Amino acid sequence: MSPNITSILLIYTGGTIGMIENPETGALENFNLEQLKKHVPELQNFTFHIDTYQFDPPMDSSDMDPEAWRKLVHIISDHYDRYTGFVILHGTDTMAYTASALSFMLEGLSKPVILTGSQLPIGVLRTDGKENLLTSLEIASARDAKGNPLVPEVCIFFENHLMRGNRTIKMNAENFNAFNYPVLAEAGIHIKYNNVQIRFKEVERELKPHYLLDTNVAVLKLFPGIQENVVSSILSIEGLKAVVLETYGSGNAPRKEWFIRRLRNACEQGIVIVNVTQCSAGTVEMERYETGYQLMQAGVVCGYDST
Ligand code: ASP
Repeated sequence: MSPNITSILLIYTGGTIGMIENPETGALENFNLEQLKKHVPELQNFTFHIDTYQFDPPMDSSDMDPEAWRKLVHIISDHYDRYTGFVILHGTDTMAYTASALSFMLEGLSKPVILTGSQLPIGVLRTDGKENLLTSLEIASARDAKGNPLVPEVCIFFENHLMRGNRTIKMNAENFNAFNYPVLAEAGIHIKYNNVQIRFKEVERELKPHYLLDTNVAVLKLFPGIQENVVSSILSIEGLKAVVLETYGSGNAPRKEWFIRRLRNACEQGIVIVNVTQCSAGTVEMERYETGYQLMQAGVVCGYDST
């Protein structure tokens, strides 16, 4: 259900966007939402209502974890009927992880949840934070003639691009253009929505928030020359439930007998192994090469192009 009057909940978790330079020390320090409003007076020009929620203390996104994701899911689901959309200010370093997690934890989502941040603090002259914040608010509040949100999914907005949250990675630590595609909307003079890419639900579904996350997971990144003892130590971690296997190209891995045997044994023991690519764009296609096909036969699951 959407309220008749447009209103947005702006959630500030922390990160560079909400920092300001201490004039005495020159160090970057967190500041609060009231100060944010002072630095972005344009916020008053929006015709819709903006409420704010602040993490106290604000978090550098390197400290983000499932506990913080649960908190975000609580905030969103507790206020779900009251707002048209949600904007989350978040550090860029782990923004893609949070966006991915939220996309699974907010099952049945039919409203925009837009994460944004910046490379330069909002209190700095050339900040990219202002544009990112203002456009995210505009996108989160955008509705069609029937009152339905234009982007009913978890997204990241950064440097003019709106991207699907669970398909995005931070790929540049320096440029304003810090994230990759796919692009769901592009902001220029007008905001152009790429409706073919945006995921609309055929039937209206209730929001079903999830809070239980199993943290017994590991990431296994392949590299040429990886040794059996490395793979076997990861796969024999006590209580391990799932492994994200970072493979080469379109999902390929070495064809060594011991490697496939170890993976097959782990799969047979009920450990879920998901194949994602180390490439920053493109998708895993396990049937494309023999090296990927053998993983599929061992029981490894395709992760396609997910983050
Ligand atoms: N270290 C900061 C963070 O991720 C960097 C940023 O906000 O871009 O919280």
